[in-house]
Amino acid sequence: MPGSEARVIAAQLDVQRAFHGLSLFKTFLIRSGRKAYIGHETREGWTGALPFYLFWCDACERYAKDYPHSFPEKRYLSCSNCSAYHRFVPWWIPLWKLWHLLRISIKYSSWKRT
Ligand SMILES: [Zn+2]
Repeated sequence: MPGSEARVIAAQLDVQRAFHGLSLFKTFLIRSGRKAYIGHETREGWTGALPFYLFWCDACERYAKDYPHSFPEKRYLSCSNCSAYHRFVPWWIPLWKLWHLLRISIKYSSWKRT
């Protein structure tokens, strides 16, 4: 498909630009398979800026760039080349869920006593 080829070329140019001037540490993080924050950007038609990340996509074996989609507990990045799904739930979500569970159980146990 010529359309998707053009999309990959545009995405790869964008990724190259993002790599340019990136710190060695962040380049290392990305090369070792992590998703690294590269700065906020805004696109045509957006009202504000969003955080962008660079990461490796196993599906198309290319570097990709995207911003997080969906709610924190379901957050994901989508490959800018092939649209593959990359789970991106923040590390604190399991802790946050545990905290809520604890709060509910504390509330419930105090309610039982009265
Ligand atoms: Zn991909």
